Amino acid sequence: MFLIGGAFTALAADLDGSFDDFEGNTIVGWGWDSSLPNTGVPVTVTITNKETGEQVKSFHQPAVTYRSDLEENGIGNGRHGFRINMNWDALADGAYVVEGTVDGKALSNPKTYVKGETAQTTAENNSTEESHEHTGLKSLGFFRTTGYCPCKQCSEGWGRRTSTGSIAKSSHTIAVDPRIIPYGSKVMINGIIYTAEDRGGGVKGNHVDIFFDTHAQTRQHGKQTQEVFLVLG
Ligand SMILES: [Zn+2]
Repeated sequence: MFLIGGAFTALAADLDGSFDDFEGNTIVGWGWDSSLPNTGVPVTVTITNKETGEQVKSFHQPAVTYRSDLEENGIGNGRHGFRINMNWDALADGAYVVEGTVDGKALSNPKTYVKGETAQTTAENNSTEESHEHTGLKSLGFFRTTGYCPCKQCSEGWGRRTSTGSIAKSSHTIAVDPRIIPYGSKVMINGIIYTAEDRGGGVKGNHVDIFFDTHAQTRQHGKQTQEVFLVLG
């Protein structure tokens, strides 16, 4: 990600891991201690009912699964992944917050898991855009969109590592101004659903920077003005 200024340096030191997307009943993520790059560290994941605040589940295990994407991105020897089987079926309908710590430090991107219709209805009731409640999309208006890639020119040595700790993927990762589009938001641009999980010094206000695998694709995207939709629920 393209960086300006010093605020980012502080964040980089705290990068200790993140959750990836849920795969069915598996919670996937990674975590490490950068001062012990080849040592597996313990991860604790807790699942809390968002409405009642009750902790319904807690897992504690080492994050030691090898992942080539981690090694390729400079995360030690790459043996820092974890996969946790979570039986969501055993829980009542509702929204659950999934939080984790690695070596005592919080993972950068807590997730929300929504089960059943109840939470969906709640989310829609909170939306002021009643006319869009059946589409699941809410227009955020027109944004300037640009592209970036893992190259030095675009990302200044960060490669695919994002400010939230996830590994950037094409057709998935966007950098945003989190005051406009909060981290973790799913937004649709030109039919593709992206996740807001990165930021950059040059991304301010109504501006989305879209991650591409190559600089050629980045150049091809250029600068555009595109309508951005928030994906609800
Ligand atoms: Zn580039």
